[in-house]
Amino acid sequence: MLDFSSKAPKIVCPSQSKGHIQVIFGPMFSGKTTELIRRVKKYQIANHKCMIVRYPHNSRNKERGVSENDVHDLNVVSMTTLSELKNETENCSVVAVDEAQFFPDVVIVAEELANDGKIVIIAALDGTYLRQGFSNILQLIPLAESVLKLNSVCMICFEDASYTKRIGSETEVEVIGGKDKYMAVCRSCHNSTSPLPQNSKHQSPCKVTTIQQATQIC
Ligand SMILES: [Zn+2]
Repeated sequence: MLDFSSKAPKIVCPSQSKGHIQVIFGPMFSGKTTELIRRVKKYQIANHKCMIVRYPHNSRNKERGVSENDVHDLNVVSMTTLSELKNETENCSVVAVDEAQFFPDVVIVAEELANDGKIVIIAALDGTYLRQGFSNILQLIPLAESVLKLNSVCMICFEDASYTKRIGSETEVEVIGGKDKYMAVCRSCHNSTSPLPQNSKHQSPCKVTTIQQATQIC
């Protein structure tokens, strides 16, 4: 019988040749955080020491379909600027940043961490509700080894959705909210000036199911 007991894998150390940046972006409700957690768990199974960084003012994790169960076995920290990370990541080989558009220093810190041999996973909105790019996230594209744009489901016409539309009348770029303030929409529904549907449950039953599924993930 084979005996693997003496061959327990050691914790993976950061290696300068392995450091790289992965970017996951897309509109709200497109599964970015779910994909980030999936990747972190994959590395954790392979004995990487991982850390997830969250923005503290974002209280809508439950609504986004991210339960504490999803992250209970992961090392999660909250901070407002990533420069606070320096000492905490010393022994980590994987650093994942959720909602990275909120961190003004994400470009410089992600590059430093990757050059230091760490696998850096970034999940972020690529554009505002006006379809204007978040400059810090767009600057990451030429620095990253891999980039993935996820789609959601348009909450008006149920086609693929690549954009976020604000439901309220606020004009500031940073208004934190969930489905009370935003919807995922396709190109034509984003451009449409028609009034937004007051209650999507008036749609056909099969489409209501699609809406509920779409709002469970972000
Ligand atoms: Zn649409």
